[in-house]
Amino acid sequence: MYRDLREYNKKYYKKNREQRKLEIRQAQKDRMIWIQSLKLKTGCQKCGYNKCATALQYHHLNSSDKKGNISRWAAQARAKKSILNEIAKCICVCSNCHAELHEQESNKYCYDVSSQPLR
Ligand SMILES: [Zn+2]
Repeated sequence: MYRDLREYNKKYYKKNREQRKLEIRQAQKDRMIWIQSLKLKTGCQKCGYNKCATALQYHHLNSSDKKGNISRWAAQARAKKSILNEIAKCICVCSNCHAELHEQESNKYCYDVSSQPLR
């Protein structure tokens, strides 16, 4: 039975390969457009910037909660529900504000109590 199903799937894929590739590419494009419109609607939650979706990024508030990269998931056309669950753990920020957030986070570990760099 399994062998028959496997053969069936192989034949199905071979027969519909080009159509399936087109469907996947379209789904990936749709998901990317959806993410970009979400980013532009929210804008940077620190400074308000909302001109270019490419310059807006999702920052995980707690890095230990991070299950994956939202942009990568969108490019892979993952389910919207999974992407929205991940977005719920984030704030939307522009590239500059994102860099500042990461610098503040890394400074927690690079500076001692007298604010002197350790390295
Ligand atoms: Zn910003």
